[in-house]
Amino acid sequence: MKSPNNKIDEIPEFLVKSTQWVALASVVILLPFCIGNFIQGRVLLAGLTTIVVSVCVVNFWYCWRGVYCYGINLFAVVPAITVAITVAIFQLDVRGSYWAFLGAFSIYYILPEKLAWKMNVVFVGIVCLAAYQVLEMPVAIRFIAILLGTSFFAFAAIHEIYRQHFKLKKQVILDPLTHLYNRFLLQDSLENAVSRSRRTGNPVSLIMLDLDHFKAVNDEFGHDMGDRVLKAVGGILSHNFRVSDMPFRIGGEEFLIILYDTNSKGCLEVARKLQEEIGHLSILPDRSITASIGISTLLPDMDREAWLKKCDENLYRAKNSGRNRVVV
Ligand code: GH3
Ligand code: MG
Ligand code: MG
Repeated sequence: MKSPNNKIDEIPEFLVKSTQWVALASVVILLPFCIGNFIQGRVLLAGLTTIVVSVCVVNFWYCWRGVYCYGINLFAVVPAITVAITVAIFQLDVRGSYWAFLGAFSIYYILPEKLAWKMNVVFVGIVCLAAYQVLEMPVAIRFIAILLGTSFFAFAAIHEIYRQHFKLKKQVILDPLTHLYNRFLLQDSLENAVSRSRRTGNPVSLIMLDLDHFKAVNDEFGHDMGDRVLKAVGGILSHNFRVSDMPFRIGGEEFLIILYDTNSKGCLEVARKLQEEIGHLSILPDRSITASIGISTLLPDMDREAWLKKCDENLYRAKNSGRNRVVV
């Protein structure tokens, strides 16, 4: 596992909301112009505006239900506004060009950041080319400068929102000492693992690991040294798993790992390897660190609680039978 951050870089919730409001506002603003285009016989522009309004209605509907539909935004909304605004510039001259500023802004509100700036470059490129062809040179120069400025301001604002969002999300779901997941996502992750295993028929296993006599480590070597050990164990857990697996620090010196697509044999091998690597840590002078491990593979009659309880019981048995061992 490289880093648990893959669970952080998902589509943020605010994108669903901003897309919803942009879609609604676009319908309200564009509808009168759509009707006006029909009345004044601008059939092509009327048709294009109708397409933009229609995809915005569908987009709003999805977002209203809490679903962010990537395909609609990337393959329908952005191409529709790009074509409609380009045609508007050709047909209405300066009057059509004003829409480009709204278009540039809206792209940042409806697409994930990296994709947004790429699509914005395409959009600005096409629209500026149209403006250069159609508008008088002094107007075109000002139009292009202001459109570039608008795009940059939108980018800067959105970039900062994303940065803050991911920073806060990281603080909420990651343990600051080990950078593993904390308990925040634990219940949901277990539930997801159970339903995914039921759906795919693939096995899923848990490893629960508790460092042995850790209180004595703190007492003998100090809390800072204890923290160094925990960090090192966190490092081992971060680098021994696949990206899909999820390692948690669930207590002071207690860890839990969800291993997808892993049966009890595979899980046992991983547990042994972990034990070995932890045993080889050379942080404490003249003392090796050991861990007791309980593992459990999800069985058909188990729910989330029973699965976790089984793992906990196995860890308890590992402790009671002398520590530094794995119990399946
Ligand atoms: P056992 O083998 O039965 O697990 O014994 P133990 O001493 O590891 O277990 P116990 O639950 O008695 O003690 C856990 C210790 O972990 C107590 C506490 O000092 C230490 N601990 C908990 N969180 C932290 C932490 O964030 N940093 C450090 N340095 N120590 C911690
Ligand atoms: Mg312990
Ligand atoms: Mg403990």
